[in-house]
Amino acid sequence: MPELPEVEALVRLLRPRLCGQTIRSVKVRHAIALRPQTARQFRARVLGRRIAAVTRRGKYLLLRLAPKGAGWIALHFRLSGGLFWFADHRLHGHVDVAWELERGTLAYADPRHLGRVHWLEHPEQWAGIRRLGVEPLARTFTVARLRALLQHSRRPLKPFLMEQTRIAGLGNIYAAEALWRAGLHPRRRTDSLQGAQVSRLHKAIVGVLQRGIECCLKPEPELSDPEWTMPGIAALLAVYQREGQGCPRCGRRIRRIRQGNRSTFYCPGCQH
Ligand SMILES: [Zn+2]
Repeated sequence: MPELPEVEALVRLLRPRLCGQTIRSVKVRHAIALRPQTARQFRARVLGRRIAAVTRRGKYLLLRLAPKGAGWIALHFRLSGGLFWFADHRLHGHVDVAWELERGTLAYADPRHLGRVHWLEHPEQWAGIRRLGVEPLARTFTVARLRALLQHSRRPLKPFLMEQTRIAGLGNIYAAEALWRAGLHPRRRTDSLQGAQVSRLHKAIVGVLQRGIECCLKPEPELSDPEWTMPGIAALLAVYQREGQGCPRCGRRIRRIRQGNRSTFYCPGCQH
């Protein structure tokens, strides 16, 4: 599932390809991706509009349309959604919605049809976006802000980090990796952290996300390949899906536990 670094990497890859181009046609092969909007409603809103900006909020990718007042296209990838770029306008593989631009075609596909694509007057119209918490790579995410968020919650750290309404953008992978970097146990209660541990967690969250973006872009994915992945992320993983292997820091075997129906990976030797 794409988390903040994967979506941010996509934003950076797509920005130079999309910005300034006009949407010449819209193909809707599986209208379920637009629900509850219909293909006709969606097409009427975006056809002939120019893509003015490619941005992100949490795990949502946003296309701002021009002229002013033309609204936004917002995408949420959920488990298996993805974006593709076909410079020759020919679609390859499973495609749900495609936007033909002047110099290529942008396509959205989700084989499980859980992700969504919406036209919005403003991003905040989408409840999922409206409720998002602080952006962890923005200046507003300070140690003091994190401390306040931790104190207002009594949850274990791992599910807390994945709550999009508190900090936007972390999922199962980056939450586990941030806790490993900070040396904190995923079951530790948020309100039990001491001052230095809060600072360490803050540094770990920002650090792992920034490193994640770099890893996603190296090697650069081939967005015209229907099977494209971001293999560089393997270089970042210390605990995620490494059950039974040695911890890179202390050598103890990585463990897997269940938390809120999700797998959590951590090192029993150096996360307390
Ligand atoms: Zn360890």
